[in-house]
Amino acid sequence: MSAIVLNGVRKSFGANEVLRGIDLTIEPGEVVCVIGPSGSGKSTLLRCVNLLETPTAGTVHVGGVDVTDPDCDIDAVRRRIGMVFQQFNLFGHLSVRDNLTIAQRRVLGRSKASAVEVARANLARVGLSEKAGAYPAQLSGGQQQRVAIARALSMDPELMLFDEPTSALDPELVGEVLAVMRGLADEGMTMLVVTHEMAFAREVSSRVVFLDGGVVAEQGPPAQIFGAPKEARTAAFLKRVL
Ligand code: ADP
Ligand code: MG
Repeated sequence: MSAIVLNGVRKSFGANEVLRGIDLTIEPGEVVCVIGPSGSGKSTLLRCVNLLETPTAGTVHVGGVDVTDPDCDIDAVRRRIGMVFQQFNLFGHLSVRDNLTIAQRRVLGRSKASAVEVARANLARVGLSEKAGAYPAQLSGGQQQRVAIARALSMDPELMLFDEPTSALDPELVGEVLAVMRGLADEGMTMLVVTHEMAFAREVSSRVVFLDGGVVAEQGPPAQIFGAPKEARTAAFLKRVL
């Protein structure tokens, strides 16, 4: 069963049609990077997957469940999806450990002991074992984003959505976050990643989707998209950003 299937997805904000018929299928274990100009609808596309935005038309299936069906239990679906944003959105008044355990306890009903153990394992996964007792303000941006990733992983997601996870970081901190994401990809995590990091898209993704003007203008293996784009607008975009 496919991890994500978007079928004819459209999204308008008032008169502004931002997504104009998106067909996109992502299989389990795929790492799909979405690239494209600012305003092309990348964030909106990502947000339609977990219904942070409701499509105006079309359907979205996650793990076989039609999330656009009004009868869908969207909270149950969201529990299976980890999302990491540009802004880390950590709880500033909570320690790193508590940031990782609060949703496990409240949403999944885990005991304190098991939530703490899962938090410990996921902090190790992102290389921050020694920061469990720290507060977000004591961490660098790169460390905070790795905590945000560990927090999402602590919910045992079936797939992860990333929306420009390194765009708010100082350049010297980008690499440590990309390294964590690369590790997840190597472990076989299904990932949909909006990114401006073309080297990451090129090296880590199984497929690159170029979004332009609310449509998938082109998609393919990274070697093809970066090496021999078929569409003139893909080539023009890559020329601007590379
Ligand atoms: P990208 O992530 O590719 O930069 P977005 O999906 O954020 O693009 O936005 C695409 C377009 O949709 C932009 O013109 C933006 O202003 C508009 N848009 C996004 N979210 C909203 C919203 N909640 N209300 C109104 N317009 C929005
Ligand atoms: Mg965006």
